[in-house]
Amino acid sequence: MGISRGATAAVNVPGYSKTGIRKSKTGRWRGAALIALNLFMIAHIIQWRIVGRTVSPIEPSETMYTLQQGFVNAGFIFFSLAILATLIFGRFVCGWGCHILALQDFCGWLLKKIGLHPKPFRSRLLIYVPLIAALYMFVWPTAVRLFRNPEHAPVVPTFTNHLVTTNFWQTFPSVAVAIPFLFICGFMTVYFLGQKGFCTYACPYGGFFGLADKLSPGKIRVTPACNQCGHCTATCTSNVLVHAEVKQYGMVVDPGCMKCMDCVSVCPNDALYFGFGKPTILVPKSDAIRRTYSLTWAEEVVGALVFLGSFLAVRGVYALVPFLMALGCAAVTTFLTLKMWRLLRARELSFYRFNLKSAGRVHKAGWAFAIFACAWIGLNAHSGWVRYHEFLGNIAFQKLKLPDEVALAQPNPSRWLTPADRDNILGGKKHYDAASTVGLFPNSEALPKQAWFEYLLGDTEQSIQLLGQAAAHQAGENKALSLYYRGAILNRIGRHEEARVSLDEALAERDDLILARQEKGESLWQLGRREEAVSVWAGAIERNPGLVLANNELAGAARLSGKLEEATAYENRADESTPNNPLFHWVLGRRLQALGMTELAEKHFQQAQQLGGGSEH
Ligand code: SF4
Ligand code: SF4
Repeated sequence: MGISRGATAAVNVPGYSKTGIRKSKTGRWRGAALIALNLFMIAHIIQWRIVGRTVSPIEPSETMYTLQQGFVNAGFIFFSLAILATLIFGRFVCGWGCHILALQDFCGWLLKKIGLHPKPFRSRLLIYVPLIAALYMFVWPTAVRLFRNPEHAPVVPTFTNHLVTTNFWQTFPSVAVAIPFLFICGFMTVYFLGQKGFCTYACPYGGFFGLADKLSPGKIRVTPACNQCGHCTATCTSNVLVHAEVKQYGMVVDPGCMKCMDCVSVCPNDALYFGFGKPTILVPKSDAIRRTYSLTWAEEVVGALVFLGSFLAVRGVYALVPFLMALGCAAVTTFLTLKMWRLLRARELSFYRFNLKSAGRVHKAGWAFAIFACAWIGLNAHSGWVRYHEFLGNIAFQKLKLPDEVALAQPNPSRWLTPADRDNILGGKKHYDAASTVGLFPNSEALPKQAWFEYLLGDTEQSIQLLGQAAAHQAGENKALSLYYRGAILNRIGRHEEARVSLDEALAERDDLILARQEKGESLWQLGRREEAVSVWAGAIERNPGLVLANNELAGAARLSGKLEEATAYENRADESTPNNPLFHWVLGRRLQALGMTELAEKHFQQAQQLGGGSEH
């Protein structure tokens, strides 16, 4: 039966909407809960900024670090408890405790205020995206460890306590990325795909919550008082066919139901309630409910391919677009592509109240839609082109086998490269160059790799410049590493003062970057500030007593100042940790030789020779 919007003759009656449907009383409670959630999130950030330490982010995505690295954090505990609760009460966390859903609701409310009612985009295939994304995020890494584990990492990692953090924002995108992220996932998905567009076609957490909901006994259920008026379906913003499902099954079985309780609140006969009983999985499925879909089967297949292509194109592009944002972008791209296709093919087409095309003629609204859609799709294709080159550049980078310490032992490492290495590096460099030439933003992850290619090919100046550029766009450990490599290369070519500045900046970013400390000691030594150099190396071995190079450097320094006993002690300590590897001895020899510690350097060159390598100094 059809949905009657005027079953209750209550137009302009307080407590009723213009369509004659009772207004939801729980909507206000849910709104309050979602506002409180957002205020709590803001308070959490403020507390961290003031105190410098706080509870780790209460975000389900943090569970990835628990599964992969054993970090037990607040996000993992929250997600585990939320899934357990869903197994009992059904999928309610999404409706009452998700900030992206709050944004979607806010956007839906804004659109309705200007007379636009988001229409659900109904796809048969894309509905599986959230579950696939959830499996990829939370199951795939463990499966890889189980079946293809070259590093022999344990399948279940050792768990460590990460409930408190000083680096709250570490795993989040920057504010400059968070704003478009929230705009795309919270607003654009609602405008194009319907009120719960992101939840339905992108959210990986929803994938698991939906699965748990099928097993839960907690459901929206019906009494015999239902007269099939359809007010519940007309109200539901999760696009559930409530009246049809309660008629067929006696309860709402759609896993998209977020237990918002709006349907319960608006039912004119008070026929709905939340209660416990059989879970969905134990109820025989019926074909009686006819669903209408927005796409033909051919469009479904094309849509799935477009979604995949768009996702691969934008995910990680410029090292800016995170996983969830890429899913949101891909959902929007799919909608726009299919709608554009219809704009080309159909004689009549509308979108909201806008007439895009009629009698085969494209109207102004149609042209505006086409311009926006082409710009969006074009931007996606452009991202795909950049991503393609970055991807091939990354593959070439992964093929590099030359250890960093060997490459950095002397200014031009070309002697270590085979013709195949050189071809691989040239190919990789070509791809990174292509990506950066057409790219709209610099890629802070590709720049250091591009710099390393330049260094290996002998263009030290370009390498230094690219590393500086990378550091300017990075933060934390990555920035520290770029500055360290920059400092190390500057040291090798004798620009010790610039090296010292770069290494100081690296240490300001990450005080525990021991390699930067060793290098900084070398800069100071070369600059004639020998006492400072010794104190920096001593600081390094205080943090890590087994550091071979720093112990050797301290031994060399002590020897040069006539403190032979001290020198022997450092030398012995270094020898205890020195691997029996000719190349390692050769690297030590080169570094000590450059510092003028020739006696010690000679010792390592000889050891390298005895072990069968490194004959050339
Ligand atoms: S459950 Fe209530 S609102 Fe829904 S169809 Fe039945 S009577 Fe109407
Ligand atoms: S079916 Fe009812 S409780 Fe579930 S999402 Fe729709 S309105 Fe909310």
